[in-house]
Amino acid sequence: MYPLEPERLEMERIAGQVVRRAIDFVEGLPERPASQPQPGRDLLARMLAAPAEHPGDLDELLEALDEAAGFGLETAGGGYFGYIPAGGVFSSAVAEVYTRAVNRFGGMAAFAPALIALEQGVIRWLATVCGLPTGSGGLLVSGGSAANLSAMVAARHAGLGEELAGGRLYVTPHAHHSLTEAARIAGLPAASVRVVPATAALRMDVDAAAAMIEADRAAGHRPFLVVGSAGTTDTGTVDPLPELADLAAREGLWCHVDGAYGGLFTLTDRGRRRLAGIERADSVTLDPHKSLFLPYGTGALLVRDPARLAAAHQGGAYYLQDLAPDPDVPDFADLGPELSREVRGLRVWLPLQLHGVGAFRAALDEKLDLAQTVYQELAADPALEVLGEPELTVVGFRLREGDDAANRRLLERINGTRRVFLSSTSVGGRVVLRLCVLSHRSHAEHVAEAVRVIREAAAD
Ligand SMILES: *Cc1c(COP(=O)(O)O)cnc(C)c1O
Repeated sequence: MYPLEPERLEMERIAGQVVRRAIDFVEGLPERPASQPQPGRDLLARMLAAPAEHPGDLDELLEALDEAAGFGLETAGGGYFGYIPAGGVFSSAVAEVYTRAVNRFGGMAAFAPALIALEQGVIRWLATVCGLPTGSGGLLVSGGSAANLSAMVAARHAGLGEELAGGRLYVTPHAHHSLTEAARIAGLPAASVRVVPATAALRMDVDAAAAMIEADRAAGHRPFLVVGSAGTTDTGTVDPLPELADLAAREGLWCHVDGAYGGLFTLTDRGRRRLAGIERADSVTLDPHKSLFLPYGTGALLVRDPARLAAAHQGGAYYLQDLAPDPDVPDFADLGPELSREVRGLRVWLPLQLHGVGAFRAALDEKLDLAQTVYQELAADPALEVLGEPELTVVGFRLREGDDAANRRLLERINGTRRVFLSSTSVGGRVVLRLCVLSHRSHAEHVAEAVRVIREAAAD
């Protein structure tokens, strides 16, 4: 009897107890508050403790887990409207149990050709949803930040080669901060990130971008990349993607579209219209852990030309010399910085196959409708000023009368009810509260509750 290799009955006992706990948790979500007070020092100390030398009791361990999971923001619940909600489709979690148990090496196709084909199928499907042409590729990564980083590295390599001096890339003030981080990690100094002004509608001013590019060229710099957002994190605003693609084509720049929040709304008719132009990008970031409602840890980078992604990331080593590449299934290790990785496709594939694409499409459509409802309800409240009709599912608002401090207090009052959770940002130098509808668990009743809480707090 090897303790690290439990027998079947013991495996069933462990798995059964863990899964039962997890299901209890999910079932209990409707009764859970949207946020919890801070945990006590003693709980933190217990969680920080080193593992014991001797076997522990599964029940006690799971009890501790439940206690720990009870604190913080209820990011899995329907009342979570802060930042960009995720949700956590249960079938995806279960797919992970299988993935981890079979433990196939996901870095190179030769280790698990058919499972890698399954993952490549997910990539191809995501690319098709965005309208990218056949032959596009990419890979699943941990999230949007990792996808933006690899896109940055690919664009840098394609545009600048080995010599980074003078490189210039163009973002808006509302671009996600992971892009600036990516530039720094990719060896580009802060001066290489040019912030193009946004229009009054918070979109990239493409004429201003063109003027900056021209001025930069005249000054001897080397523009190589323009980044648009398919839904900014702040306000869900979509940059003028067709004009950006035109600009990139005219200037010979790499066009990256950050669709971590909004890119997958292309599954819906309305989303496809609003995100028109995304199909012309050289690379697209998506976050299935946002707009496919999957558990955290799944982002995607799609590229029109996988060879350009490989050129920036591919390595090579004698100890890998036995592995022949397959023309149909890629070696994901060649497309990103990781060698060892799990097969990531199952956690996307199982939910899509099991529930059908239509279930995801319908859920995204529901979120678009719910955001409209929030917009109309809040716009009808004389105490509130609403930023504008949501393009996707973010509604920004603030008190009509009141400074930034008053708006911060409003947010505290709203979140203090622990019935919903919202977050804030800054737009045009002013504090704006924002409500983002994206969890698959947020339905009409949650949105109605949010509106009620907001209006009550604003009337205070
Ligand atoms: C969330 C987000 C990111 C970062 O994605 P992570 O999955 O959190 O790493 C990047 N861009 C946009 C627009 C986002 O909303």
